[in-house]
Amino acid sequence: MTDLSTDTRSRRFAELVPMVRPTVEADAEMELAVKEILRSGMLTNGRYVREFEEAAGAYLGVDHAVAVSSCTTGLMLVFRCLELSGDIVVPSFTFMASGHAVRWSGNRVRFADADPRTWTLDPAAVAPLVGQAAGVLAVHTFGVPCDTGSLQELCDSRGIPLIIDAAHGFGSRYPDGTMVGGKGVAEVFSLSPTKTLSTGEGGLITTNDTALATRLRMARDYGNPGDYDSRFVGLNGRMTEVSGFMGVHALKRFSRWLDIRRSLAGGYRSRLEGLPGLEFQTVPEGAASSYKDLGIRVDAARFGMNRDALAERLGRENVSTRKYFSPALHQQTAYRNVPAVADLSVTEELASSMITLPLYSHMPARIVDEICELIREIHATAQKAGGKAS
Ligand SMILES: *Cc1c(COP(=O)(O)O)cnc(C)c1O
Repeated sequence: MTDLSTDTRSRRFAELVPMVRPTVEADAEMELAVKEILRSGMLTNGRYVREFEEAAGAYLGVDHAVAVSSCTTGLMLVFRCLELSGDIVVPSFTFMASGHAVRWSGNRVRFADADPRTWTLDPAAVAPLVGQAAGVLAVHTFGVPCDTGSLQELCDSRGIPLIIDAAHGFGSRYPDGTMVGGKGVAEVFSLSPTKTLSTGEGGLITTNDTALATRLRMARDYGNPGDYDSRFVGLNGRMTEVSGFMGVHALKRFSRWLDIRRSLAGGYRSRLEGLPGLEFQTVPEGAASSYKDLGIRVDAARFGMNRDALAERLGRENVSTRKYFSPALHQQTAYRNVPAVADLSVTEELASSMITLPLYSHMPARIVDEICELIREIHATAQKAGGKAS
């Protein structure tokens, strides 16, 4: 750690550049709506939540959108409503909540490896595991859509469901041109503050299965269809009205935010691509990423320093970064008892070499330019130091 009290040297950025910030346009319309909600006494699961579900369903091109209190809750409810029980194949290169949802629903996780180029669940790694599995949970890692074509085929061959953790995927597109949200039996988005569209806290389950949607609406309300005879053990997974309004308000601005985000990500890519030892995530032909995160993989030998040293150097200049997803899920304490049934070497390699750079929809473009410039300088000095040493 740098000792701030004695570090008088000027930093590249006078103020800390955050890794992520929720984009919220708190205008007069929002102020008015929040006041109206608070005065109305309808604080949860009312008019605005329904409005948000309709608008989001239309935007994503799906039959049903069910708003919930978080993505983790939404995933738990999907598992519960499908009455799954057994082993669920999950990527280890993901955020902890993917695994947690499987465990909270009473199922076991079975980890499978990631594709070295797209960093999403590798269908070839899933294939040997589906025979024993009750379902597959895939993830749109950093916004790049996972290979639902191959995964769906594998699941169909065994008659098991494909569930999709779409926490990073709001705004992403599949190679067939459809929006993320319509594949698998259900996709579950996160609307928490670090995601591309935020309602404060929140989640959204999308599905084209009408019976499942009906069960999910019951499930988020304790399993109570309204007559106080609970049909199964649900929980409180409702979204608040303030969150519902935030969703409606954000959705009207979302395409603009997404364009900015993609252009900032494009800026990083064009300015850093070609720098030795830095590798970007491959977006499949025809697909589009939401760029929930801009991850780069650092090859220490070619770049001149490893991921940790680069993060430290950027931190010294006030640039925040994260080491997503390190440790990987199978390396975390909560999962140490999961039997190792598959090779996870790509995951381990990614977890040890990944860094995510600052990116949010209202980030000024000049910050991207300056961070890229800084990374180029860091690389140049590392090369020089390396050259001297050898
Ligand atoms: C953020 C995240 C979640 C959890 O979302 P919540 O809305 O916080 O429950 C689940 N999966 C992935 C991959 C995530 O990044």
